[in-house]
Amino acid sequence: MLVLEYKVKAKKLQYLAIEEAIKTTQFIRNKCLRYWIDAPREAKIDRFALNKYSTELRNEFKFVANLNSMAVQSSAERAWLAISRFYENCKKKVAGKKAENAVLGSPQVERFSKTGYPKFQHNNRSVEYKTSGWVLNPIKRRITITDKKGIGELKLLGKWDIQTYPVKSIKRVRLVRRADGYYCQFCIDVEASDIQPLTGNEIGLDVGIESFYTDSNGHQEANPKFFRKVEKSVKHAQRRIYKKKKGSSGRKRARAIFASKHLRISRQRNEHAKRMARNVCKSNDLVAYENLQVRNLLRNHCLAKSIADASWYLFRQWIEYFAGKFGKLAVAVAPHYTSQKCSNCGAIVKKSLSTRTHVCSCGCNLHRDENAAINILNLASEARTGHVQSNAVGLVTSTLLGESLLEQVTR
Ligand SMILES: [Zn+2]
Repeated sequence: MLVLEYKVKAKKLQYLAIEEAIKTTQFIRNKCLRYWIDAPREAKIDRFALNKYSTELRNEFKFVANLNSMAVQSSAERAWLAISRFYENCKKKVAGKKAENAVLGSPQVERFSKTGYPKFQHNNRSVEYKTSGWVLNPIKRRITITDKKGIGELKLLGKWDIQTYPVKSIKRVRLVRRADGYYCQFCIDVEASDIQPLTGNEIGLDVGIESFYTDSNGHQEANPKFFRKVEKSVKHAQRRIYKKKKGSSGRKRARAIFASKHLRISRQRNEHAKRMARNVCKSNDLVAYENLQVRNLLRNHCLAKSIADASWYLFRQWIEYFAGKFGKLAVAVAPHYTSQKCSNCGAIVKKSLSTRTHVCSCGCNLHRDENAAINILNLASEARTGHVQSNAVGLVTSTLLGESLLEQVTR
């Protein structure tokens, strides 16, 4: 799935209409959730029941009927997604806990942190149309939203050509509100294959705060400069919100500044992660990394660490994306003893987090992270030849491309 994104240019009334469609989506989602909560257990509400209920909502509320029927459906599906996630977590016995990183509330991070009971939504930011409710202008970069919400024709600002893809391959059209305006996303079903020649290289990656990653060849990729800038400026912007009186216009403004700073940072972070991942996948046939649980990663109060975690998570998604695209192998290995084990002889060499070197009695002397990266690569190689059980991700990766994974077509 390829996601193309354009900035939307329109009149004020049209923006209001988009906002209204976004609100309706939230209304339907929350109504469906309420319906599920209130239903007796025997009713066994499933996605079909919610879908049916959303049709009832169309009959009951004019403003729901005004939204395209497939968009209504997709709103009901959002509720089902939250509910089914909750069921899954119950099965897996995952304790629900909201992420403690207000600063890094990026969409992906939020999605994975809400592991508990589904919540009512208050700040929905998007409306999703599927294959109907819109018409693409065949020549100009314009889209017309055709339902009765009154959105009408929108100009699309962006350098790529949506017209080069058959309309049939456009599976979803999403209108998204961000801190700096509205965006239109097209989710396109294409085989984005770009098979790269094999290089004969294999690599293991270890991630940390000290550097962006350390690989099994001993290379340490430094953290980008914006990492350090981020912390200061985000912290500052966030503090300013709480200094202002609740409900005041000053607070609203401070919040907007914080949001736009945050948006800029998450874009930089995404671009950086993407560039790194592309390079790594191009020059290696196998890329191994630890299968770290996002849930665990998020539970920390250290801002620098949260930033590194969020970036690493993006990096991993992009690695899986490019591995699939280039015909390479991305392997996630279980994170067991990767830093304690000696990569040379296999002995366990205990060390605390502050010990930065690995020194073993066998004579092995390496940077702590390089030792870990070699272990990660060894685990992946073993997994590939079938000696050890692991969750190897082959050419077919199951990664869903989230809102932020925008493949920008380069020409
Ligand atoms: Zn050793």
